[in-house]
Amino acid sequence: MRSVLIVGAGQSGLHLALGLLKNGYEVTVVTGRTPEEMRSGGVTSSQAMFGTALACERAIGLDGWPDCPPIEGIHLSVPGPDGGRAIDWAARLDTPARSVDQRLKMPAWLEEVDRLGGKVVVHEATPADLEEYAARHDLVLVATGKGRLGSLFGRDAARSPYDSPQRALALTYVHGLRPRPEHSAVCFNLVPGVGEYFVFPALTLSGPCEIMVFEGVPGGPMDCWGEVRTPAEHLAMSRRILETFLPWEAERASGVELTDAKGVLTGRFSPTVRRPVAVLPSGAAVLGVADVLVLNDPITGQGANNAAKCAAAYLEAILAHGERPFTPEWMTDAFERYWSQAGHATAWTNALLAPPPPHVLEILGAAGTLPEVAARFVNGFDDPADYAEWFMDPAKARAYLDDVRRAAA
Ligand SMILES: Cc1cc2nc3c(=O)[nH]c(=O)nc-3n(C[C@H](O)[C@H](O)[C@H](O)COP(=O)(O)OP(=O)(O)OC[C@H]3O[C@@H](n4cnc5c(N)ncnc54)[C@H](O)[C@@H]3O)c2cc1C
Repeated sequence: MRSVLIVGAGQSGLHLALGLLKNGYEVTVVTGRTPEEMRSGGVTSSQAMFGTALACERAIGLDGWPDCPPIEGIHLSVPGPDGGRAIDWAARLDTPARSVDQRLKMPAWLEEVDRLGGKVVVHEATPADLEEYAARHDLVLVATGKGRLGSLFGRDAARSPYDSPQRALALTYVHGLRPRPEHSAVCFNLVPGVGEYFVFPALTLSGPCEIMVFEGVPGGPMDCWGEVRTPAEHLAMSRRILETFLPWEAERASGVELTDAKGVLTGRFSPTVRRPVAVLPSGAAVLGVADVLVLNDPITGQGANNAAKCAAAYLEAILAHGERPFTPEWMTDAFERYWSQAGHATAWTNALLAPPPPHVLEILGAAGTLPEVAARFVNGFDDPADYAEWFMDPAKARAYLDDVRRAAA
């Protein structure tokens, strides 16, 4: 029986572990935290996942939390000079998205690894441990997210246009936000020069909730979390930002309370793509997974989606490889197959971090009167490869808008 060891019990590591266990592999998961520590810890993400990523989970029987509220669309707003909205439109997702608090999902999946006969080792792995793991297993995967082990993998400068954080991030999990009357949505607010605010329904430890996500341009007025010390101050700051820049969102949020004292998070990191294989001092090679290799800013909500797609791509590659040795060449090939999707998500995410070029402003404006354009933009969150066909290319975008306008006329 082939033996695989995965370091990191997060979205990608556990998805892959469960997929391998269900296919008869001997699997060890090394986790820095027990299920109980995960449940009682702080929030880690806003983890909205779209149809394709959810289908990757369902393909290996992972389809829990039926009481998670669906996210049925995306609503885009941009404030205008008069305090109202210069851009204001919504479109439905073809398949609803969902967000299950990782404090619910990851401990349940880790317990499922144990139930299916996988070995769970509670230990914060070090580079020296990787040597030992590589000597004893056919394949070692490093799925430690933003953890320190990721630095063993070299930065790929050609695929990493930024070398510093592009947003100051904050999460606020709340109960009591007034729902949109039409249908549920990611309400995505873009405040030029200041940052972005999005909010959407999710499932947390205490039931359905809404997650507020703040993305402040560094040094700007939404990069304001440094002095915040307590959960109550965090909630007050969240409210203050909405009252200052997004009065329609402040109104919806007038009655909110934190879901729990650990339902808040602040931080920042540099978006980075890394080389897929780390060669240890002994010469043994280990393969990186998901955020270890492709770490994007959450502005487009792609990280957990990519993690599921990476786990699915690696699972397919491992199963197809049969009994042959897992060489560095095989590892690079497995990653490049994943990158053929993740590369599009990365290019689009990095583009949205920069000030919007004229053709993007034209698209976002035109979508207000052309429902087909709004629907295509919104459904690209599920399949960012489609943006390469129009959104990412000024000439293709104009040709597409002209076609849609002609058809509409
Ligand atoms: C503010 C914010 C909002 C986000 N919102 C979204 C969103 O809406 N949609 C979306 O798709 N993505 C979102 N993401 C990104 C998403 O959460 C991540 O991309 C995703 O969880 C990555 O999965 P992963 O398996 O690579 O790593 P993780 O899920 O981070 O798992 C890594 C695991 O490894 C463990 N670990 C680390 N080091 C070690 C070690 N040495 N030994 C043992 N264990 C270790 C960690 O404790 C953790 O459990 C967001 C991220 C942030 C920061």
